[in-house]
Amino acid sequence: IWGQARAELQKSVGANNYTTWIEPLRLTRLDDSEAGFATPTRFMSNWVSRHYSDTIRTELARAGQAVERVTFEVQPAGSPKVATAPEAPAAEADAPASPAVLRGEDDLAAPLDNRFTFNNFIVGKPNELAHAAARRVAEGGPVTFNPLFLYGGVGLGKTHLMHAIAREYQASHPEARVLYLSAEQFMYRFVQALRERTIMDFKELFRTVSVLMVDDVQFIAGKDSTQEEFFHTFNALVDQGKQIIISADRAPGEIKDLEERIKSRLSCGLIVDLHPTDYELRLGILQAKTEAFRVMYPNLEIAPEVLEFLARRITSNVRVLEGALQRLLAHASLLGCKITLDLTQSCLGDILRSSDRKLTIEEIQRKVAEHYNIRLADLVGPKRVRTVARPRQVAMYLAKQLTARSLPEIGRRFGGRDHTTIMHGVRKIEELKSDDRQIAEDVELLRRLLEA
Ligand code: ADP
Ligand code: MG
Repeated sequence: IWGQARAELQKSVGANNYTTWIEPLRLTRLDDSEAGFATPTRFMSNWVSRHYSDTIRTELARAGQAVERVTFEVQPAGSPKVATAPEAPAAEADAPASPAVLRGEDDLAAPLDNRFTFNNFIVGKPNELAHAAARRVAEGGPVTFNPLFLYGGVGLGKTHLMHAIAREYQASHPEARVLYLSAEQFMYRFVQALRERTIMDFKELFRTVSVLMVDDVQFIAGKDSTQEEFFHTFNALVDQGKQIIISADRAPGEIKDLEERIKSRLSCGLIVDLHPTDYELRLGILQAKTEAFRVMYPNLEIAPEVLEFLARRITSNVRVLEGALQRLLAHASLLGCKITLDLTQSCLGDILRSSDRKLTIEEIQRKVAEHYNIRLADLVGPKRVRTVARPRQVAMYLAKQLTARSLPEIGRRFGGRDHTTIMHGVRKIEELKSDDRQIAEDVELLRRLLEA
């Protein structure tokens, strides 16, 4: 029965989770009241009990043995065991289950995010080097760049790439021990090991991995004993020819309060940075995410200019960009409406304002007037001749695209025009842009000038 249930579990929890959490379970009791399992560590017992009890019960019932409860008992199997899959935080030595420790264990569980794969990573100019280096390291092969040091600002994809490497490496080297954790978790474990006098286990654990990945290493700056331990771990692994991958928010030399010898150690492999995203990359990411979201929102209709607008306006951080898109999609699906620029602006007002580059409508008008060689007063005035009216619409369009101002506000700045007039102007240019090359080029040029 357990064999059958296991086979089903393998399908339902996925191969990786199965190997990590289900396979090591040893059935010790099975009757109507209870299914009892022995696990090698306390950590595992807690984890499986919390995450898989119900699934196990369901599968047992399906296989013909309904039980009232599922229990786990720790039976350490000789030597301490190290994580063998990226999802598995290294097994804790059989620590007492005091609340403090339990909380700690939760923090230590650094499961890989399923969305962070190479497939989902969009490559553009700003990140192509980091991506290529990550790919190369993930392939395994002879260790070439050691350590690989990835750095860049918040939300540019460092953690994403690290997870992708861990996953890929583990997939092609199933027996390898890939340990991914944040520098904060490293410190936490270290401090805990000191407190519980298990420092030898700690050293053993970290010095026997095949690949060590430490995210956000700037965190240990200024933390002297943690730095010291990190330095020794680092050296021990490099001496054994093990791969190390580190990320930080800046280059090694620029991390304050980091020991010189660590800086120089970190710098001796390959250092690559993730540059701030450019418009093309942001647009690519938005398009890919939109496609991915179609699973959730099958009736999704989103105007192409909405993605362009977002890519242009939210420039700081891919996480913010994603958050904006998610909010927009959820909003539209609740309201059951099509995603237009108007909806986007009302729904994302706060995000847009905070990333506003403070471009004013007046600046836009001035640039447009200059470009078409007409007077500013005419641009906002009442004249209806084509040579003035068309540039006016271009200015309206740009004001809508490049600022967070509402249609009525824009209307006021165009000599007190009604918001429907502005909307008409914006639509007109949107239409013309697709078949009038001259207009399309004018708009692009002006946009570039204004954004420079
Ligand atoms: P960091 O660790 O550098 O602060 P993350 O890796 O956590 O940034 O990335 C923030 C979010 O942006 C994540 O959801 C990630 O998937 C996404 N992201 C960043 N860069 C890309 C990219 N090039 N392609 C797809 N998604 C990306
Ligand atoms: Mg990160």
